[in-house]
Amino acid sequence: IWQETLEKLQKDLNPQHFSTWIKPIRLVSIERDTVRIAVPNRFFLSWIRDNYADLIQETLSDIGAVSYQLQIEVARPDEEKQDEPAPGKAAPSIEIKRSGTAVNPGVYNLNRKYTFASFISGSSNQFAYAAARAVASNPATTYNPLFIYGGVGLGKTHLINAIGNAILEENPDMRVCYYTSEKFMNELINSLRYAKMDEFRKKFRSMDVLLIDDVQFIAGKERTQEEFFHTFNSLYESHKQIVVTSDKFPKEIPGLEERLRSRFEWGLIADIQAPDVETKQAILKMKAEQNGIDLPENVALFLANSVSSNIRELEGYLVRLGAYASLTSTPITLAMAREVLKNILVEKRRELSIEEIQKTVATHFGIKVSDLKSAKRLKALVLPRQVAMYLCRQLTSCSYPEIGEKFGGKDHSTIIHAIKKIESKMAEDMQLSATVASIRSSLES
Ligand code: ADP
Ligand code: MG
Repeated sequence: IWQETLEKLQKDLNPQHFSTWIKPIRLVSIERDTVRIAVPNRFFLSWIRDNYADLIQETLSDIGAVSYQLQIEVARPDEEKQDEPAPGKAAPSIEIKRSGTAVNPGVYNLNRKYTFASFISGSSNQFAYAAARAVASNPATTYNPLFIYGGVGLGKTHLINAIGNAILEENPDMRVCYYTSEKFMNELINSLRYAKMDEFRKKFRSMDVLLIDDVQFIAGKERTQEEFFHTFNSLYESHKQIVVTSDKFPKEIPGLEERLRSRFEWGLIADIQAPDVETKQAILKMKAEQNGIDLPENVALFLANSVSSNIRELEGYLVRLGAYASLTSTPITLAMAREVLKNILVEKRRELSIEEIQKTVATHFGIKVSDLKSAKRLKALVLPRQVAMYLCRQLTSCSYPEIGEKFGGKDHSTIIHAIKKIESKMAEDMQLSATVASIRSSLES
């Protein structure tokens, strides 16, 4: 029925519209009267909702003679390019084919699209990039484990896959496994259910390189942490490379067992920060080129300047512009970009208020907002107060005197001093800078 619907739509729609908007849609499932489809990103999703959802629903209902409900979701980027294992089966490997001949059966789930060659390094990710390179050229002899952390959409999944791909280039026979921690957990649950724990253990403990993405998800999951702990030890003891990513610094992951946390700190911890404008521009240019989108310099700068630090989101805007340009057969210009992204950018630019920042910081440190505004010199209050002042300066357009006013009428020099203080502390104290980054990202989300 989905196939027939597509055929009908292809007949009804302008070919360019069909290939831009309908072709990339994937059918997820049809259950009774509900049809679930997946689209590449959320801009696509809103476009489909506004322009094609009714048509698709009607066409489906016509063909199936059932009144179908349409559910549209965003395909998870990790799955988009990969074949999902058949449900119920233990996940089979997705094999890497090299020059069309040799197939290495010991490679699991690596995304071949994510390589070092397609990764732009800039000051925000330099450290993590260099560490990843080092690990890739000398697995298990440099940094083990390598722990990469950073906010959403900043390139963790890309980088960890790049490590796997680079290792395989040099060592085509190595056993390399990329798993998200969720997938690790699901496979564990299945193995427990079907009494296949031996197989499970053997599989993971036979890896030369284990890449675990988004490890924060196993926090609080006792059995999974236990099993991961033993896998970790076994690999570590036999000098196999382990790389882990997370959205947070190990100490900041709530519910993560102490013994795992301490192991994550055995090797090297590298952070990825929000990209600066130049890096964003460079990434945009590369992605535009890859997708055959003609992106003028000033539009790249406009995008880099006005949108958030999430690179996945940035890519989404680019795709939207590219689609719009091809639909309307007009080149991308600054005016067009402003128009097309108008609604989204307004939403993004809504400025945070000092009160919101104070509230979030106070909650994070478990203190009262009134304590932030007070002049008490208690150590437990001074640091949060400085953090709050710093974030107010970073995230609002308020002047020093205005900030001082909202902090119980403090002098502007007090504010400047506090901000200098926190900046120098952050430069030395990785955990503090991680704390500030996490408060910041919760404010910005
Ligand atoms: P995370 O796992 O940190 O949420 P991803 O690795 O999924 O982020 O990155 C999101 C998107 O941004 C991907 O398409 C990725 O290719 C792209 N990306 C992120 N950082 C870079 C970079 N430095 N250079 C090129 N592309 C990048
Ligand atoms: Mg990721």
